Amino acid sequence: MKTAFVEADARAAVDHYAGKGINEDLALRVYTTRLLGRDPRLVLHGGGNTSVKTRLKDLQGEETDVLCVKGSGWDMGTIEPAGLPAVRLANLRKLRALGALSDEDMVKVQRANLIDPMAPNPSVETLLHAFVPHKFVDHTHSAAVLAIVDQPDSRALCEEIYGGRMGFVRYIMPGFGLAKEAADVFDSNPKVEGLILDKHGIFTFGASARESYERMIEMVTLAEERLKKNRKAVFVTAQLPQRAAALADVAPILRGAASLRDDKVEGAWRRLILDFRSNEAILNFVNGADIARYSQAGVITPDHTIRTKDWPMIAPAPADGRLDDFRRAAHEAATKFIENYKAYFHRNNERVGGTKKMLDPLPRVILVPGLGLFGLGRSKKDARIAADLAEAAVEGITDAEAIGTFSPISEADMFDCEYWSLEQAKLGTAKEPPLAGQVAVITGAAGAIGFATAKAFAVAGAEVALLDLDEHAAKEKAKAIGGAALAAHCDVTDPASVQRAFRNVVEHFGGVDILVSNAGAAWQGRIGEVDESVLRKSFELNFYGHQRVAQAATRIMLAQGTGGCLLFNTSKQAINPGPNFGPYGLPKAATLFLVRQYALDYGAEGIRANAVNADRVRSGLLTEEMIASRSRARGLTEKDYMSGNLLAREVTAEDVAQAFLHQAQALKTTADVTTVDGGNIAAALR
Ligand SMILES: [Zn+2]
Repeated sequence: MKTAFVEADARAAVDHYAGKGINEDLALRVYTTRLLGRDPRLVLHGGGNTSVKTRLKDLQGEETDVLCVKGSGWDMGTIEPAGLPAVRLANLRKLRALGALSDEDMVKVQRANLIDPMAPNPSVETLLHAFVPHKFVDHTHSAAVLAIVDQPDSRALCEEIYGGRMGFVRYIMPGFGLAKEAADVFDSNPKVEGLILDKHGIFTFGASARESYERMIEMVTLAEERLKKNRKAVFVTAQLPQRAAALADVAPILRGAASLRDDKVEGAWRRLILDFRSNEAILNFVNGADIARYSQAGVITPDHTIRTKDWPMIAPAPADGRLDDFRRAAHEAATKFIENYKAYFHRNNERVGGTKKMLDPLPRVILVPGLGLFGLGRSKKDARIAADLAEAAVEGITDAEAIGTFSPISEADMFDCEYWSLEQAKLGTAKEPPLAGQVAVITGAAGAIGFATAKAFAVAGAEVALLDLDEHAAKEKAKAIGGAALAAHCDVTDPASVQRAFRNVVEHFGGVDILVSNAGAAWQGRIGEVDESVLRKSFELNFYGHQRVAQAATRIMLAQGTGGCLLFNTSKQAINPGPNFGPYGLPKAATLFLVRQYALDYGAEGIRANAVNADRVRSGLLTEEMIASRSRARGLTEKDYMSGNLLAREVTAEDVAQAFLHQAQALKTTADVTTVDGGNIAAALR
C-alpha cells in the first residue's frame, strides 16, 4: 500500500475546519480517518475506528482533556468532526483500575462522560483508545492483516513480520476486557508502534495524525508482502456442470429457498433481497473442491457476524437446463442451513444461560459454484453490505489458505459477537416497514399514477423497479425516489422487451413479489366505424401488455414459491363504458377478467390478483388540455369537472397508489376490484 497523505490537503483540512471553530488536532484526525475509510482494503462498513487526544472547552467553557473517538453510525470515509464525539479522558482512564465492567455499564460511563450529551455513542473500542498513551490511534480490519492473524500460528507469523515493532494481543471480544489486555501488552513494551489483535485487526499509534496513519500503511504493507511469499496454489476446482444456468433463473429459486414462512400471519413470508457478485477470485473460491471446509470455518473478523452470519450457505451447482434438480437441491441446502443455524443458536444459548433471542435463521451469504455469490439482506442496502463483506472474506480466506490454513475465532466467540447486545444495537431496533424484503415492479412508472405508486411502495419498505417506455424519465423518477430504486426500459407491447426488463429486475434484486401493471393509453372511436387497426393497437397495450407482464411476473413468483401479488390498473371504462371509448374500454374489460383468471388459476400457489378501478385522475391519459376542453364542453369549471362524483372530491394519483398499496398488503384478498373514483353509481360493482 502507498500512503495517500498529502501535506497540502492536510493543511487545507486544517484551514477549512478552523473556520468552523474546530481545532487542528481534530481537523487532522478527520483528514486521515477519511484516508483510511476510503480504502476498502482497510475499512468496510463500520469496521475500524480512530481517535485523537486533545483539549477542548466543555459546555461551561472550561478547557478539558478529551478523547475524540469515532462515534457509532458514522462512516470513516465521509466522517466529520461531529462523528468523533469528545469524552472526558481522565474519567475513561480511571476505569482501567476496575477488575471488570459489563458492556452495558461501559456504554453508560462513556455516555456519561460525553462533552456533548447529544453526541452519538462512542465506539465500543473507546477504552482501548483511551488506555494507550499516544495522541493519535488508528484501528482497521485490514484484509492483509486478517489473512495473517487468521492462522493457527498467527503469533509466530507476526513475530516474523514485525519483530518487536508491534505488540500481539490474544483474541478477546471487543469491550473492557480487550482494552485492559491491550493496555497490559502495550505496557510490557511501550516502544511498540501498534498492536496486532489476533483474529480481529490492527492498531497503530503516533504523535501526529500522519505518523499514526503512515504506520498503519507500513504495517499493512509488511503483511501484504508476507502474503506474496511462499504461496501455495489454492482451491483445486471441483467437478462442475459444463454450463451453469443463467443468473436470472438461479436467483429466484435461491431467493425462495432462503425465505421463511411467517408462522404468525398466514400467507406472509419473511423474504430477503439479493445482491449478486462474480469475478475471477470469487469463482476460484466458490468452485473449489474443498469449499465445505474453508468456506464454513467462520468469519475473518468478529464484527462481520452481524452482517453475514458465521457461515455462508453453499448452494448446489446450477446446471443449465436442469432447474428442477437445482430447485430441489437448493431447498435441501437451505433447510440444512436453517437447521444448522438453529442448532448453533440453541447450543450456544444454553452455554450463556438461555438469555438470548434467536435472530432469523436465514443465510446472509450464498455461494453458488459455477456462478458467484449472493449477499442477502432485508433491503438492497443490507444485501450489498453482506456481499461486500463476503467479497472481503473470499479475499482474506484465499490469502490465508495460500500461506497456511484459514483459522478464525471459535464458534463460541462468533456467537458471543453475533448475540452481543452492543452489536445488536448497531443494527437498530426501529420497527421494519410493512413491505421490507419485497420487490415491487411497476410498469408505466414514469407516469403520474405509476410514479405515485412506486413512491408509496418505496415508503412502505419495498425495493422498487420502475419500468417505462421512456427510460430517461423512469431514471429521473427512480433518482427522485432514491435508495436502491431501479429504472429500466420496458415496452409492454414487445415480448422481448418485457423479458429483458424482468431479467434485469431479477438479476438486480433476486426476484419479484409484487407487480403493478399500470402502463396504458387511451384510444377513441365510435365502435361501429372505428378502424380495426386502432382496436388492435389498443388491445395490444391495454390487454396483451397486462398479460405479458403478469405472465413474466408469475413465472418468477412460481420459481420463488412464496406467493406474490399481481395488481392491475383497470379503468371505470371496464365497467361503465363512455361514449366513443370502446377502443379503450373493451381491452380494459378483458383485463378485468384477466385479473379474475389469474386469481383463479394461481390462488393455490398463494399468488393474488387484484385491480384498481380509478377514474378522472390527472395523468398522461387525462392531460391539462383535455381537462380544459372537456370541462368547457360541459359548461363546468375545471374544479367541478374533476370532482364531478358522488363525494365531489378530485381523485389523485396518490389515492390510486394507496389503493394498490392496500391490495398488496391484504393477504386474504384476491380477485378484488377496488374503486377509486369519488363515487360513480354507474361504475359501481355489484
Ligand atoms: Zn475492530
